[in-house]
Amino acid sequence: MKVYVDQDLCISCGLCISTCEDVFHWNDDDKAEAIDEEVPSDLEDKVQEAIEGCPTEAIKEVE
Ligand code: SF4
Repeated sequence: MKVYVDQDLCISCGLCISTCEDVFHWNDDDKAEAIDEEVPSDLEDKVQEAIEGCPTEAIKEVE
């Protein structure tokens, strides 16, 4: 599983970071960003939760 945050859609609500701070962090523009696009398998459930919870659907899964 790979993810990235669409910077144009992120409204910096912080939900993904509080849901899974091992995968998401703030970048220099105060937007959320995936620390590493490749998500460790044990964190996939948390990342899925973040994807579903993001209010602007900014978190995209790469096929
Ligand atoms: S949940 Fe979505 S809108 Fe909120 S900080 Fe994360 S990517 Fe941005």
